[in-house]
Amino acid sequence: MTGHPRGVTYVRTGNGDIKGHSRDNRFPHSWMRCTMAFNQPLGGNEMPRFAGPGTFMRLPSQENAQGLDVAFVGVPVDAGTSNRPGARYGPRGVRSESVMIRPYHMASRAAPFDSLQAADLGDVPINTYNLPKTVQIIEAFYDAILAHPCKTLSIGGDHVITLPILRAHAKKYGKGTIGLVHVDAHADVNDDMFGEKVTHGTWLRRAVEEKLIDPLRTVQIGLRATGYAADDFDWSRRQGIRVVQAEECWHRSLGPVMDQVRARIGGGPVYVSFDIDGLDPSCAPGTGTPEFAGLTTIQGYEIVRGCHGLDVIGGDLVEVSPAYDASGNTAMLGANLLYEMLCVLPGVKRRD
Ligand code: MN
Ligand code: MN
Repeated sequence: MTGHPRGVTYVRTGNGDIKGHSRDNRFPHSWMRCTMAFNQPLGGNEMPRFAGPGTFMRLPSQENAQGLDVAFVGVPVDAGTSNRPGARYGPRGVRSESVMIRPYHMASRAAPFDSLQAADLGDVPINTYNLPKTVQIIEAFYDAILAHPCKTLSIGGDHVITLPILRAHAKKYGKGTIGLVHVDAHADVNDDMFGEKVTHGTWLRRAVEEKLIDPLRTVQIGLRATGYAADDFDWSRRQGIRVVQAEECWHRSLGPVMDQVRARIGGGPVYVSFDIDGLDPSCAPGTGTPEFAGLTTIQGYEIVRGCHGLDVIGGDLVEVSPAYDASGNTAMLGANLLYEMLCVLPGVKRRD
């Protein structure tokens, strides 16, 4: 346990809520001063931002999910990618650039680190010489985390990682029950690539076939560019998935789209999978398969913030390949999108 940066600490009661009284009127009555604290990111006034631990937001690291509400996990895989490699450095790059993020969300007043116990579980020890084995290793790693009442926010890695992550979640939440918010330039529903069934461009088709997700509660946003056949995106539509192509998003706020998404998904568990290439390369050049005329950074934020109120059970941010963006901004944007996901998890308090 670490001390709260303002010298005030809190305790949670059994169901994850915080109960009690506070004499400090900065805080609602449901907060209690005591000697236990939630893990806090290391602040920029405690340790210079360019120093300190290499964890996400410089949170404490932990070896397993014991006692956690949410775990950040790196999945350093790029054997599933079809063009430029380098997403194996995504976790390291995203963590490195996450040092700029402060604990409180100014727009929504979300206070995730006053509400949830969070830590960084490090990286999945994948086998970089063997993608099938890697996929098994990832699934087993998430099985072990999900044995605890802990959610995961994962740092990719290429998009193949979402398949084993969803396999583990489907064991916990039930087959065919999980809704999906999928942001991407690509549909990722190829039947195979070079004859391989498990790649970064086939994972969603496998997830539908294996009934890991509920297609009727699945939305794909940002799809665009060129295909191998004119009806490439229609496989998704034939499964009942709602496809929001990038052109539908051009020049407009995605608030209304997210109203529709929330209505469609309704109650029940939902997973958020955000491929950074869903954003335009002018916003996120550091990725392996860029496509132009994509979503803006603001639209990316609108999508994640628009998930507030849904029963979000976890999420990932994939396909950051830091070497293609010497500024570090793509990795920094990835880190911020993961923080935005953290802020919309159920149970995050908002300080009105
Ligand atoms: Mn993808
Ligand atoms: Mn993509």
